[in-house]
Formats: sequence, structure tokens, C-alpha cells
Amino acid sequence: MKTKPLFIVISAPSGCGKSTLIDMLLQEYHDIVYSISCTTRAPRGHEEDGLDYHFKTKARFEELIREGAFIEYAQVHDNYYGTLKAPIEEVLAEGNSMILDIDVQGAAKVREHVRGLANTDPLKVGYVDIFINPPSMEELRARLERRGTDTQEAIERRLHNAAGEMARAGEYMFQVTNDDLAVAFKRLCDLIDALSGRM
Ligand code: 5GP
Repeated sequence: MKTKPLFIVISAPSGCGKSTLIDMLLQEYHDIVYSISCTTRAPRGHEEDGLDYHFKTKARFEELIREGAFIEYAQVHDNYYGTLKAPIEEVLAEGNSMILDIDVQGAAKVREHVRGLANTDPLKVGYVDIFINPPSMEELRARLERRGTDTQEAIERRLHNAAGEMARAGEYMFQVTNDDLAVAFKRLCDLIDALSGRM
């Protein structure tokens, strides 16, 4: 079935199950491509170029900034992170959809960029942004504690950041609460099906 190519931007505070939900979507929809960011930081552990990130030198990254190649980029500590525009355009031109996993600030930059595009631009035509909410701050705390990967201090920092991000959830076209993974996934699928004209 021919469907409308979507440019899906998804944000969520950490601990909301965003990565799991995105993995489930990629399993379900083989025409959705995950956007791989560029970074100037060094690869960690088993990270592979072109799989986890496109690793760039600072000089090359700055050249790409000057060329206007990024739909958004940010400097985090001493490193740059950014999303190239061309791969999104290519994926949409092929009739597939692109999903971008990005924080609230990055999403705001993408939204601003898209707003400035022509109404006929495929990125604007297919644009949709979704915010994933945790069921509650109490449950988010419980999940982060259960996950056991963070110190108490890091958990407090994540909760503080989460509250800040959730305060901006209203900027998104859609919000999905991940109270139950299967239910949240179903909501995302229903949304994608409706927007892409699958039903
Ligand atoms: P890490 O170095 O741990 O992989 O990522 C560090 C931070 O960079 C994370 O907060 C992550 O969300 C952010 N980041 C990763 N890719 C991008 C991107 O394409 N654009 C922006 N603005 N931030 C990104």
C-alpha cells in the first residue's frame, strides 16, 4: 500500500521507554528509517560509524554547519551533535518515513526549521512531533531506580530535567503517555496509521 511519507520527531524524558517504543516501531514498520546523528565526540565501546553516529572531525562538522547541512545542531560540553537534512529528504523522496529521536530543545529547533519551509516541502507535509510522557513523576522515579544504572544524584538530575521537558510537552502536536507499554505502542501505531493514510 502506498502511504504518505512521515517526518516523525519523538521526544521523551529518560526512563519513559522511548528507545523501547522506537525499537518496536522500527520492527513493525519497515518503511520507517531511524535518523542517525552526527557527532564530533569519539566513539565509545562498540559504537560503529554510520550505525550509532556519523563520527566527524570538528573541522568537518563546522564545514557542514557553514554549508547549512544540518536541520538542527547543538554543542554539548565540548562536542557538536547534529541532524543532517539530506538523509531525511532522501528517505522521504523514496516514499519512506524518517523518525528522529531528539530532546525538547533539538525538537524545538527542528520545528522552527520546518515552520520556515514551503508548504509543499515534503518535510513540512509529513511533519509530526510526539512527546512521550511517563505515567507520573513517582512512576518515573521508580523506573529509574529499578533500572539501577544511575546514582541517586543522577536520578535526581534526570527527574529535574524530566520535569523541565514535560513542561514543554504542549509544544508537540501529540502526546502519548507510557503507562502500559503495549497500550502506548498501540497509540503510536494508530497515530502513524492515521497520519500516513494506512487506514
Ligand atoms: P551521547 O554522547 O551520550 O551519545 O549523547 C549526548 C547528548 O547528545 C544526548 O543528550 C543526546 O540526546 C544528544 N544528541 C545526540 N544526537 C543529537 C542530535 O542529533 N542533535 C542534538 N541536538 N542532540 C543530540
